Amino acid sequence: MGLAIAHQLARRGAAVQVLSRRRTEAAGFVAAGMLAPHAEGLRGDLLALGQASLARIPAWVAQIEADSGLRCGLRPCGIVVPFASTAERDAYATAAWGQALDREGLEREVPGIGPTWRAGLLFAQDGQIDNRRQLMRALERACVDLGVQFLEGSDVQALEQDHSGTLTAVRLRTAEGDNQRLATDRAVLTCGAWSAQLLPQLPIRPVKGQMLSLQGPRRALDRVIFGPGTYLVPREDGLLVVGATSEPEAGFREGLTPDGQRQLQAGLTALLPAAATWPPMERWWGFRPCTPDEGPLLGPGPIQGLWLAAGHHRNGVLLAAITAALIAAALQPGHAEVVAADPAADDDNRDWLHSFRWDRFNPAAP
Ligand SMILES: Cc1cc2nc3c(=O)[nH]c(=O)nc-3n(C[C@H](O)[C@H](O)[C@H](O)COP(=O)(O)OP(=O)(O)OC[C@H]3O[C@@H](n4cnc5c(N)ncnc54)[C@H](O)[C@@H]3O)c2cc1C
Repeated sequence: MGLAIAHQLARRGAAVQVLSRRRTEAAGFVAAGMLAPHAEGLRGDLLALGQASLARIPAWVAQIEADSGLRCGLRPCGIVVPFASTAERDAYATAAWGQALDREGLEREVPGIGPTWRAGLLFAQDGQIDNRRQLMRALERACVDLGVQFLEGSDVQALEQDHSGTLTAVRLRTAEGDNQRLATDRAVLTCGAWSAQLLPQLPIRPVKGQMLSLQGPRRALDRVIFGPGTYLVPREDGLLVVGATSEPEAGFREGLTPDGQRQLQAGLTALLPAAATWPPMERWWGFRPCTPDEGPLLGPGPIQGLWLAAGHHRNGVLLAAITAALIAAALQPGHAEVVAADPAADDDNRDWLHSFRWDRFNPAAP
């Protein structure tokens, strides 16, 4: 979120600093990169936000690729969700957006799929992007080329406000251990799963996820397979990304666990038995930022001048395009001038910030 928003702000001519404690801990480097509002079975406003972001992704990626000179690894490859029965398939939240598959259709779309799956949904409109190896680096490059200043190793410790509740400064500790105060009246909080450490009133908690990748034959799998508890994401070069555990009880406990890795291996074997013998390349983990309704917190925060773009849980890669457009448009001083050129800056989208306001869980909130 920090990179995507910095990029959009810099494109609009703003001077931007990115304060980052540790870039490699970001879930942006952990995720599988599925662009999957339908395959994930999202509902309500979150489904609509995901669909709006999905529609923006090709143009957003083209901008990043043009600004950085690097590829992002976007693959509109479609996602297949397999089910044990047609009844389960037809009850899926987003079934209406998919193409219903019987066993024969499943075998056609996913040659070699395991025998337990009797039905499926093909979401041809969903896809993937190689966030870990390509998108994140391309975003960083684009930001640097547009003049964004990175302060890597800056651990933000507190947000200062005046007596009227307006942001006045950000206090941070540098990698060298010095304390610094950066005076500012505007900032965007994009601290992912760690956001509530800075602002305890934000309802965001970590949900740990473990991953692994395998070295598969190129084109062994064309579609993403999104099974219950495990998904397989085939990259262009044959790398197969296998995800992911969901461990809210782990808090911020770092590291792989035998149970988590066994779970991924079992899910892999059930989905694509032949892949069970492909050699593992890498294993890693990270923390999803989860809110009570699993939707993000977007828009003005509890301190005046502080904006929020956090809590994107399982869908932050998908939602980065629309989040960056919404927040950059809202922060743009000459906002009205870009309305015609930028569909994210219209009335409809002002409703997005309301739908995903941070205090929506409080029954007293308007
Ligand atoms: C296992 C797993 C699989 C996933 N798969 C997908 C997927 O397939 N598709 C999808 O759309 N999404 C997926 N996600 C979700 C997605 O990765 C997240 O929603 C998204 O990365 C959140 O972005 P963010 O910028 O809010 O947080 P992050 O990417 O976590 O970045 C937060 C950054 O804030 C920094 N930070 C935190 N506190 C401070 C502080 N006090 N001072 C300075 N810096 C600070 C951190 O160092 C970090 O760099 C997955 C996530 C996980 C963990």
